[in-house]
Amino acid sequence: MVTPRCNFPDLVNGTPIKQGVKLVQNPFNNSYYAFLGSRWPMSKYNLTWDIADSKIKSKAITPLTLAFKKWEDDSVLSFRRASSFKSADVKIKFFRFEGKDTAHAYPPPSGELNFNAKFSWGDGTKPDRMDLESIGLHEIGHILGLDHSSDLDAVMWPYLKEGMIKRVLNFDDLLGIHILYE
Ligand SMILES: [Zn+2]
Repeated sequence: MVTPRCNFPDLVNGTPIKQGVKLVQNPFNNSYYAFLGSRWPMSKYNLTWDIADSKIKSKAITPLTLAFKKWEDDSVLSFRRASSFKSADVKIKFFRFEGKDTAHAYPPPSGELNFNAKFSWGDGTKPDRMDLESIGLHEIGHILGLDHSSDLDAVMWPYLKEGMIKRVLNFDDLLGIHILYE
C-alpha cells in the first residue's frame, strides 16, 4: 500500500526490494516500528468496520475478522462490524487500481482501506493467492497509525508475495501499537 505519507511501493507482487525502507533502529528498545503521525482519539477506541458490496465480500469477512481480532487481542482497541457501510469507521473496498500496489490504507482518522481487485485474494497458503488475512493485518496497522517497520519479521514490513502468509503480530508490531496507544 502507499499511504499519502509513504513514497515507496509496498507489498509488491514480485521480488522483495529493500529500497525505500530505511533501517532505523531505536537504540532505546531495539525496535524498528514507525508511526504515520496520527492516532485515533480515546473516544474512538471501539472502532466499527465494514466491507462495501462486491463479489469478494462474503469471502473476505472471515479473514478480515481474524485480522482485526489479532490487533484487538494485543491492544486497547476493539473492533466490530458496523450496522451499515455508511456508518463504519473503517470502510473497506475491493476495486481495481493501476500500479503494483496490492492495497492502499490511510492513517487516522481516515479509516479508508482499499484492496486492489486485480490480485487474486484468498488463502495465501495456496500458491498464487494473496493472503487476505496477512495483508489485512498489515493494512489495519496503517489504519491505526503505524508506518512501515524495517524489521523483516514484522507484519508492518512492507513486502509480501503471493503464496506467502504472515498472520502473527511480532514483538516489533506489538511494541509499536503499545507505544502509540498506551
Ligand atoms: Zn504498507
